[in-house]
Amino acid sequence: MVDGSTDDGMKRKANTSRRTFLKATGAATASAGVGTGAVSATSKDREEETDVDAFLEDLTLEQKVGQMTQVDLGTFDPESTEIPDSFGVETLGEYFSELELGSVLSGGASPPTFDAQETVEGINALQEYNLEHSEHGIPFLWGVDALHGNTLLAGSTAFPQRINMGSTRNIDLIEAAERHTSDATAAMGAHWTFAPTTDLQRDPRWGRFYEGISEDATYLGEVSKARVRGLESNDRLCSTVKHFGAYSIPENGNDRAHARTSMRDLRTNVLPPYRRALEAEPATVMVNSGALNGKPAHASEWLLTQMLRERYDFEGVVISDYDDFYRMLVNHDYTDSFRRAVKEGLNAGVDMYMIGNGGEAPGPAAFIETTVSLVEDGEVSMECIDESVRRILELKADLGLFEEPTVDESEIDSVLGGGQEESEQLARESLVLLKNDDALPLSGSEDVLLTGPGYDPDLDLENRFLMRYGAWTLGWQGIQEGAPSEGGPRPRGETITEAMDDAFNGELTHVPTDFRAQPYSPDTSDPNGDFDLTDEQESDVREAAGSADAVVVVLGEGPHNEDFGDRDKLELDPAQRELVAAIEEEAPDTPVIGLILAGSPRGGTETFDSLDAVVFAGQPGSDGGHAVAETLLGENNPSGKLAFNWPENVGKVPNNYDAYPPLGDSALAEPHEPLYAFGHGLSYTDFEYSGLSVSPGSVSDPASTPTVTASVGVENTGDEAGEHIVEVYNTQSYGSVLQPDRRLLGYERVSLAAGESSTVEVDLDLSAVEVVPGDVPGILPKVVEAGEYELSVGEETTTLTVENAGSITDDRPAIGYDADLDEDVYEGIMGVLQRLGR
Ligand code: BGC
Repeated sequence: MVDGSTDDGMKRKANTSRRTFLKATGAATASAGVGTGAVSATSKDREEETDVDAFLEDLTLEQKVGQMTQVDLGTFDPESTEIPDSFGVETLGEYFSELELGSVLSGGASPPTFDAQETVEGINALQEYNLEHSEHGIPFLWGVDALHGNTLLAGSTAFPQRINMGSTRNIDLIEAAERHTSDATAAMGAHWTFAPTTDLQRDPRWGRFYEGISEDATYLGEVSKARVRGLESNDRLCSTVKHFGAYSIPENGNDRAHARTSMRDLRTNVLPPYRRALEAEPATVMVNSGALNGKPAHASEWLLTQMLRERYDFEGVVISDYDDFYRMLVNHDYTDSFRRAVKEGLNAGVDMYMIGNGGEAPGPAAFIETTVSLVEDGEVSMECIDESVRRILELKADLGLFEEPTVDESEIDSVLGGGQEESEQLARESLVLLKNDDALPLSGSEDVLLTGPGYDPDLDLENRFLMRYGAWTLGWQGIQEGAPSEGGPRPRGETITEAMDDAFNGELTHVPTDFRAQPYSPDTSDPNGDFDLTDEQESDVREAAGSADAVVVVLGEGPHNEDFGDRDKLELDPAQRELVAAIEEEAPDTPVIGLILAGSPRGGTETFDSLDAVVFAGQPGSDGGHAVAETLLGENNPSGKLAFNWPENVGKVPNNYDAYPPLGDSALAEPHEPLYAFGHGLSYTDFEYSGLSVSPGSVSDPASTPTVTASVGVENTGDEAGEHIVEVYNTQSYGSVLQPDRRLLGYERVSLAAGESSTVEVDLDLSAVEVVPGDVPGILPKVVEAGEYELSVGEETTTLTVENAGSITDDRPAIGYDADLDEDVYEGIMGVLQRLGR
């Protein structure tokens, strides 16, 4: 262990106090007495031209490594005993003057203050201090986790979480929302958001499942690409494709664990979404905190250089995740030497090290000292350092920071809380009607009982909004870290209770049951919160249910993040099940509607069988209240479709819809069906399909014809107008390797009045059926294999013929396998093998 540290785990992110920030920016205003006070004579000239080469010549090695350092704002607390004192650093300002730090991490959706004006003024003041007092006047990058809106400021719009975005299949709308996030985050003075998360959403035991868009690689890739475009639409903000790669498929379901994958799976499903997102040229990439195939991702030169840079042509900045060189010691037990971890990480391809807020982990001074000594000893080359610093300085120049290091402080007011139209639309389109035995829609004239969590008896506060926003919202673990104060900061938006009360003309009866969110702790409960049904609440619920025309019962889980949210169960908390049982017993003939607020597929037949309708609302954000009320009333006809398989129970996980057959216990047994399948989502009307065809019907070479178009008749045969997502799947094909039973090739939204019909054209992306052919190693170039591909929309089918195999996304063998062979020779051999069908 280094620096006297022990391996008893990582200190978690603290909510950096507002006091620290004010103190820091106070130091900035009283700048004259702090720091060196030396402004480089040439820094003004450089601001105009941003002569990166000149900086590279001028900066000392220590200063270069300083630029490669991003430090959590929490580390700056002058009273913290964790602050390294080897540089005699005592104030925040002096961190910049002494260490020339490249970047500040104000992550966790917890800036020092949730007040927009104070934030923008604080960042500006700090930047000015930095420019005046650091020797070279290089502006810092301020990085945040603005992951579903700029959810770092009170009054902001919190868009529906990523789990909701996935069920909309509406890429343009998601991109429009991200354009707002981009403007709102840039106006705050930040330069960098660590989004989009581009990890495959495959394991609902994992606490970050809610951050996923889909378990379908092609769809996830397209959405992530659009999110990069949206997030970088403001010139002052850059995005991060993360967590490269394979972060989301931990083999034990726990955060930052080793990934369960194979070379074939990696190349077919896990890496392609990142690659597709990279086509939008994000400025940065963040590395997977876990490990794959026995190697920590941060130490993998194969992953970070050969794949990311050489194969995927990424030219931007690679940032580590939080303390992840140190995690090679304490998480992965890969080494007991921080020096070795840093060496391997930098040599593998990391440009910037994200340093957390202290604890046992080495701080910025230790990282800089270690790196300097590695360079002096020839273990990390000077070229490697220069290359990273060049990328970082170029990013700063691209963002215009040298010309305009601060932002207009009046702008945030006009942007904050905007994007409402997109937020409302996303919330509406994201709701998935899982089940409906004629219980919905309601008419609006019923006496409705709304019940279910949450009321926090300790805080004496209705706290259901915690469930509705989820994590990364005014706090890492949710609003005010799950302990909201009365009148404390909130995103813009009405509560579900207020919206429902409005919708039912103030006639709603509301009996919330107990829900205490949990602060971070390594042993938290599975439901991500403590739920209870007191005797008094139960008797109130029984009484109200007995006289109600309909009952809406909120079910689900509390906000959760990272390892905090990992879970071993998917069923709902016992107190919630008791609540449903009590309602059923008391009012057996009354329609009972379950409204699930959760970041994962929470609940199974043990609860759903007792409900007449189930709406999965996920974590629908600022405008979720209205979306829910409109949907219950039929003013919004639900159109969302699950973007993942909802498993029957946790024992069936992993349960992804595009896994290899058999999905049952054996080929002879009944195939195992998920509780609700990928693509499931009911409507208040019915849609029928007819006449599916595809054009062209035959493709000679998929490399030159990567897209074909399906055409299908769709009729709204019900009594209500409705939006519908038409999805085209490949449902049968044979090749040299197993083919999933279903793969989504394309989708299109259509809006039809009752009785209306239309012919819908859907572009089909053939790269979705690309496979890695050949035997177990999975190293051959990817191809769409020749053969017949059955295409299906509902019960309608047609056939697409692929005459010759062809590569669309990856026409070269896996990197590593061909290392010792001349490329032409290798490709020749591969070509022959492929023709032979090997
Ligand atoms: C998370 C990242 C996040 C970073 C900064 C890490 O713990 O894994 O997703 O961007 O913290 O807050």
